[in-house]
Amino acid sequence: MARQRFSVAQTAEALFAPEEPDLANAEAVILLETPAPGIAAAPTRAIHRYGRVVIAPGSAARDNAPPVVSAGDAGLTLTERMGVHAFWRRRSDAFRIASQSRAGRFVAWGSGGRVAPAPPLGGATAPQPSNGLSAAGAMPSPTSERLQGEVAVGLIIVSGPGHLAILPDEMDEIVARMQEGCSILQAAAPAGDVVFNHEIHPVYLSLPDARATQDHDATEAPWRDAALAQIGQRGGRAGVLAYVTDLRRRLGTRWAYCAFVTKYSLTHFAYAWMDGPHLVLAAEPGHGWSQADLDVLFAHETCHIFGAPDEYKSSGCNCGTTHGVYGHANLNCQNCVPNGGELCIMHTNVKRLCDHTKRHVGFSAPPGGWPSA
Ligand SMILES: [Zn+2]
Repeated sequence: MARQRFSVAQTAEALFAPEEPDLANAEAVILLETPAPGIAAAPTRAIHRYGRVVIAPGSAARDNAPPVVSAGDAGLTLTERMGVHAFWRRRSDAFRIASQSRAGRFVAWGSGGRVAPAPPLGGATAPQPSNGLSAAGAMPSPTSERLQGEVAVGLIIVSGPGHLAILPDEMDEIVARMQEGCSILQAAAPAGDVVFNHEIHPVYLSLPDARATQDHDATEAPWRDAALAQIGQRGGRAGVLAYVTDLRRRLGTRWAYCAFVTKYSLTHFAYAWMDGPHLVLAAEPGHGWSQADLDVLFAHETCHIFGAPDEYKSSGCNCGTTHGVYGHANLNCQNCVPNGGELCIMHTNVKRLCDHTKRHVGFSAPPGGWPSA
């Protein structure tokens, strides 16, 4: 498929707005008789797995004439039911219209009066490469080195008392946006080999809110550790890693990470820990972004977890640093690419990954190999 290139200058002047893919319309939901731990056991190529529920490319699913699962089906686990609800929600006009009319669409992060997501946190410093470039940022966790094959993603939705409550409809919206975010990434994978294996934990706390400080770990610790305790894990970022490692073992995947979504006060509305590995999103992001941006924010932070750097101007990026498992340079960084670079989720609110970010997250190479930089 030929890829159209859009320049940032064009979008900044709003000369035209490229259409974003309608991902849900190219997908179908099916129910397996038994859980499928590996892709070989599945009847079709999967995009998402929620227990026995598989969301697969639409045409492949139709070819296999599977039973279509409706949102009202009984006998599903909570994760399975929420996965099905999310799929049908993504197919609704309301979801599509909210996506297409979001005010920050095609706006570069940190521009137009809107705050950028926070830079990635934690992680081991990358070794110095031998090619004269300098390593920057942090190395991905051993659980998230490459966005390839089977990936487990735990979603922990942390509801609190009073105004911190996340209502059922908001829960559904969050799960749908996380599903859409994973579909954005899967659709960008050149080899089409990424499968997201989901686990969902709505958690209800009576803990009151506390004032956010500058310290990410100290600010998230009270509600994060209380949520971890409710799902049987110890606290601290070590507890998050223990959950992620356990999730990977239980779902039988090669890679794993997790996401917390909450209304508790945060240091920032969107950030990722490289060494959790986990990301944190405000259920109501604010700062110029809405709930309809949660899918792009989730996908952006996931790219960080798998090793991708920011590319927007105010991130301070430069083209001489290398990132990710391939040690690829940051060649779509707005500060050094002559035309401002091409549209990419790492510098703009858009459901698209540039070829450089595709390498940074460690996607499998396309059949013909990566295009020359
Ligand atoms: Zn970022």
